[in-house]
Amino acid sequence: MSVEESLAGLGHLVNGKVVRGAGTFDVVNPATGQVAAACPDASPGLLDEAVAAARAALPAWKATPEAERRETIRKLGAAVIERYAEIEELAGLEKGVEMAAIELYMAQVYADHAADTEIPVDVIEDTDDRLVRVVRKPVGVVAAITPWNAPYLIAAEKVFSSLAIGNTVVLKPSPFTPLGTLKMGEIWKDLLPPGVLNIVAGGDDIGKAMVSHPGTNLVSFTGSVAAGKKIASSAGRLMKNVVLELGGNDAAIVLPDVDVPLVAQKLFSSAFLMSGQTCAAIKRVYVHRSVYDDMVENLAGYARLMTPGPEADGAHIGPLVTRPQYERVTELVRDALAGGASAVAGGAAAGGDGFFFPPTILTGAGAGVRVVDEEQFGPVLPVIGFDDVEDAIAQANATPYGLCGSVWTSDIAHGQELAARLECGTAWVNSHTEVAPDIPFGGVKDSGIGRSGGRAGIDACADLQTQIIYKGTDRVRSAPA
Ligand code: NAD
Repeated sequence: MSVEESLAGLGHLVNGKVVRGAGTFDVVNPATGQVAAACPDASPGLLDEAVAAARAALPAWKATPEAERRETIRKLGAAVIERYAEIEELAGLEKGVEMAAIELYMAQVYADHAADTEIPVDVIEDTDDRLVRVVRKPVGVVAAITPWNAPYLIAAEKVFSSLAIGNTVVLKPSPFTPLGTLKMGEIWKDLLPPGVLNIVAGGDDIGKAMVSHPGTNLVSFTGSVAAGKKIASSAGRLMKNVVLELGGNDAAIVLPDVDVPLVAQKLFSSAFLMSGQTCAAIKRVYVHRSVYDDMVENLAGYARLMTPGPEADGAHIGPLVTRPQYERVTELVRDALAGGASAVAGGAAAGGDGFFFPPTILTGAGAGVRVVDEEQFGPVLPVIGFDDVEDAIAQANATPYGLCGSVWTSDIAHGQELAARLECGTAWVNSHTEVAPDIPFGGVKDSGIGRSGGRAGIDACADLQTQIIYKGTDRVRSAPA
């Protein structure tokens, strides 16, 4: 199938059918800056149909044996691998770089984990007198809303964790990267009963309507803090459950006892993964003054090796996915340089029509400079020196964000003690940016509410019911005389 045929067949998935609807919106290829496709745009009426389909499918899906639901999820994971090339070519159009294979490989890992994981029951007491336990029941219809940075993996994770427990789903991808997710819907359509999964493409207003819709019960959102706060407020008024996976400004703290070239390579990989557009990427690094110059030179060495540009030209680093993000990163670096910071590598947009920015290592930018205080979400890393580790911990925590953080040291016990003092949802010693389906992930402070992954991720998609069952009938029937 050619890309043109693939695009012509794309549509929303509603009640088991692919529908195109009337309107469209433009999707821009960030590698060229040009419009790459016209994506079907869901109307409020189509959203109503999708929610109605999800509600209608709920009783039968809830009643489907858990093991059968889990095996269906395994098939969804396998299907995206079998047909990854069709998603990959659309990723090339909407993300400007063919990286879907990595997300889809991870999606299969998440699918297999969901398929292999029984929904837990906590038995608190099981005596002759009574059974006390906590069971996890479906919440109902999940409104799943995804961002543009890792659209396929995040969508898959939300769909699998919701379906496993017996929920049905209405999913909306980002308007910047809707194409691959619609393709996933097309691929999954015949593997699920109609209405169990519905996908609508559209802008922020459709997202808002999903949150306030009387037919949705849980909002599972990944995206910006600003949108997350609006969603929390709207869902709170309706007493809806929320899972909010929001932005971060992750700090890494490097102590003087490390092998600098080895650690520089790991810091670089974390900070510049997907051109820095990863929620759990290192966004600021605090380095002990005794190894500071060496670390900066090592990081800059890696940065200078990485050429930004189109994949076809053999470049190593892809574009910023959206024009607003490209403009924001450009502005944050310009602001830091104007304030006296230095770019040891990179420092200005690559030029041309695509949204390319070279890996940039900044020195001389600290607290009070926007690129340090805000989430840059791009290929820019400020490196900040410290003398006293207490000061580094204080600076790492001096942020409204609380997604992840890390400490790098040869003294593991000291590292563990320091990591525990970081105010964030995930704290590493000698690592950063790892995610896995059995490990809870999520933020504290402005970085979010709830978790994905692990037992906490299951609980986030469920209604917990405490059951207290007295085993004898003596409470309701008098003993025979
Ligand atoms: P965004 O908040 O602008 O948009 C995300 C999605 O929400 C889109 O589908 C959008 O249409 C929709 N939306 C926007 N406003 C809404 C509203 N008021 N109600 C309902 N839906 C709304 O975010 P983005 O720019 O697409 O994504 C980048 C952000 O996502 C970064 O801050 C990044 O850190 C964060 N992120 C977090 C995680 C995590 O796991 N914590 C993972 C990936 C990305």
